[in-house]
Order: sequence, then structure tokens, then C-alpha cells
Amino acid sequence: MKRFFTLLLVTALWMITLSGVAQSASSFKLMTQQPTNQGVCSQHKNISRELKLVSNQRLNSSKILFRTTASDKVLSLPTAPLPTLHPASLKARVPVMMYHDILQEKKIIYDLTPQELRKHFELIKSSQVTPISLNQLIAHLRTGSPLPEKPILLTFDDGYGGHYQYAYPLLKEYGYPAVFSIHTSWVGVNAGRTHLSWQQLKTMANDSLITISSHSKTHPALTKISDQKLYQEVVESKKILESKLDRPVNYFTYPYGKYDLRAKKVVAKANYLAAIAFGTPTEKFANQSEDLFSIARFEKSRLEEVILQAWGNPTLAQCN
Ligand SMILES: [Zn+2]
Repeated sequence: MKRFFTLLLVTALWMITLSGVAQSASSFKLMTQQPTNQGVCSQHKNISRELKLVSNQRLNSSKILFRTTASDKVLSLPTAPLPTLHPASLKARVPVMMYHDILQEKKIIYDLTPQELRKHFELIKSSQVTPISLNQLIAHLRTGSPLPEKPILLTFDDGYGGHYQYAYPLLKEYGYPAVFSIHTSWVGVNAGRTHLSWQQLKTMANDSLITISSHSKTHPALTKISDQKLYQEVVESKKILESKLDRPVNYFTYPYGKYDLRAKKVVAKANYLAAIAFGTPTEKFANQSEDLFSIARFEKSRLEEVILQAWGNPTLAQCN
């Protein structure tokens, strides 16, 4: 009797998770022909390699669509209520790495030379770690969708000229996605260090490997400014980026990584889908973040240490 109820529960959970097939109810053969957990799990041992996010969908809806590349079916996974993380995503450990300027002669501890960045990319490659996009990470955090076995997300802050000159060509060479966080008042300004021009930024934004995140207008610590200034920094930077780059900007990166409840609320109200933080209070994996508006990161110097722990929970949650 107990076994019967367990089976019933497992089957019910499975049906809930796989509900809402986009093409038609019968087109997702795995669900209709193999209703048992065992059947689906044995067929989909490598589901992380098969799942591709369907592009041009809004990731804030109640379901997120993936295409199974092997069988070309659409899989629809229900999302956790915004802004919480899906329970199935808590088993994974995705390191989000924070980089700053890339330049030939380093000036501060945050800088990296192009040669050092290449070494990082080589380490990622030789460790069989797979860089994912921010959209993939958000879809995973919202649905618990499986990721590659060892995922990582690369982020570059502050819109430096070295990002176009060194980081972007290297990302293209390796085929790695990345996020660039831009504070709009500094675009094209070359005082001290060079910064990206709008033209360079547009070239990068048009590349499917690249995600542009708003990093405010003037890069203040959001926890220390007035309500009015906070609103301007969060809302106006989104508008400026969207009009200059002619595309939606769905993500925000807190200047200095710093946020509080007030900043989170303003960012959420401004229609961002998620926000990237740093170091409040500690560096940790994205899956350990409080919610989507405080996605945790590691400083680049911890790459070697954290990739050893990277884990994408690569099978469907029901098959673990
Ligand atoms: Zn910054």
C-alpha cells in the first residue's frame, strides 16, 4: 500500500513537472508513451546535453520552454514563483565568476592580463567546465532544469575598453557566453582607463554569446543614496541601454555588488528579471543565493578552487 502511494506521488510529480507541452499534448512522446519515471529517466540520462532554451521567450512567465535536441520535442517546465529559486535548483552549484579590466599592464588586484585570461579559459576547457549564458542560469534557477555537468557563468564588470579589445575576441575564440555589466555614464569615457564606446557595445550586444546587464548610471553604492537617486540609477540606466542597444535589458548588476531590501525592491519593480550581487555577506554559488535579485558570485581569483565544486545537477530532478 505504501509503495502504491509512493508510486502515485512520484507519477503525479512527474506529470506536474512535464505538463504543458508546447507543440501539442501528444507531441511529447516521452510523456505519453513512457509515463513512468523509470522509462523517462533511462531514456534521458544525458538530458543536460539535449536541452536547449527556446529563444525569444520571456523568462518571467509561469513556464519556460526547452527544446530536446535529440528528439526535437518541446519540453515545458513550470517555474517557481518569482523571485524564489526552484527547489530542484538547490542541488546544483553554479559558480558565477566576476572579472574586471583586462589590460597588458595590471594596476590593481582586480586587473588581469590577456594572457592570464587565456589561462583561465584554458583551465575551464581542460577541466571540462561548460560556460553557460545568464538566461540559461535564470531558466535553471526558476525551473530546476538540468545544466551541463560542470557549469560556470562568466561576468565582466564596468565596461572597460579591454573588454572589447581582449575579453570579447577570446570569448568568441572559445565560444564562451558571458555577461558585461555597464554603467551608462561611463560609456565612451576614457579618463584614466578606457571604456567601451556605444558602437563597440552594440557590436557585442548583437552577438548571441553576450548578455548586457545594467550596472546603474554612475556606479554609486545603492545602499547609500536617496530614494529618488536610486530610482534614477536603476530605471534610467535600463532605458538608456535599451534605446542605445535596441534590445531588452533584463538584468541588473549592483555597483560594488552591494544591495539591501530597498534596492532589491526598486530593481524588481523596474521590470528586471534578476540581479547580480557580490560578497554580501560571502562569496557563494548562484544556487545558494537568497533569491533571483541577489545572485551570488566569486571573484576571479577563486576560479581554480570553485570549478572543482561546480555541479549542474545534469539529469532531470525526478531522475536523481
Ligand atoms: Zn562595478
